[in-house]
Amino acid sequence: MSETIPADTRPRVMVIFAHPDDAEFICSGTVARFVASGYRAQYVLATSGDKGSDDPHATPEQLITTREAEQHAAAKVLGVEEVTFLRHKDGEVEVSIPFRKELALVIRRGRPDVVLTFDPWQRYQIHPDHRAVGMTALDAVAAARDHMYYPEQLVEGLQEHRVHNVYFFASDQPNYYVDITAFMEKKIEALRAHTSQIRTSGLEERMRSRARIVGQEIGVEYAEAFHYLPMMQPPALMRHPNW
Ligand SMILES: [Zn+2]
Repeated sequence: MSETIPADTRPRVMVIFAHPDDAEFICSGTVARFVASGYRAQYVLATSGDKGSDDPHATPEQLITTREAEQHAAAKVLGVEEVTFLRHKDGEVEVSIPFRKELALVIRRGRPDVVLTFDPWQRYQIHPDHRAVGMTALDAVAAARDHMYYPEQLVEGLQEHRVHNVYFFASDQPNYYVDITAFMEKKIEALRAHTSQIRTSGLEERMRSRARIVGQEIGVEYAEAFHYLPMMQPPALMRHPNW
């Protein structure tokens, strides 16, 4: 007798970012909250952080191994079930049609209801990867929903996919705040998994201080800030998580 595996009907959140530890620094309290609310979470990393070291003897290959392992460990702390590494070169991510196409495929496969990514319009964002990932992720969200884009991807059951909500993190125009007070310890624990990147003391206090300042905006102890972009008209907006 064969058993039928029940379909996974949980809502899905996908976090698209540039380097191992970006998500932990910026939005991991919210990721933990999505997971606690019943979402299936997936991380998508454009690079594996192969330039993230002060050590003159470090090689890109070693860094990729170390940092991907650290990212898996952080994901485990947060309950993120899938981590996808696209392995672009650190510092060299560009807004391009091939990258857009690659992310559209990732979105069509992962079928997220919600996407979290960098705000591509954050003023004075100096890291080119952060700008490029945010812009291309949004372009891919737009392309993934239309079957005329990259029709060669739509084989073997793969379909176009419409993301309902996008939350931009690292925004200088936040319009949405998430209370992460109950998830602050998880955020710090997840950040600690990035051992190779913790070069100074006082990290925990800096993280608490930053989240405390954001928390003041909505009168809670700790919060993270986003620019929220609804991608669909109601009733799909009902899926906007009601914290
Ligand atoms: Zn980064």
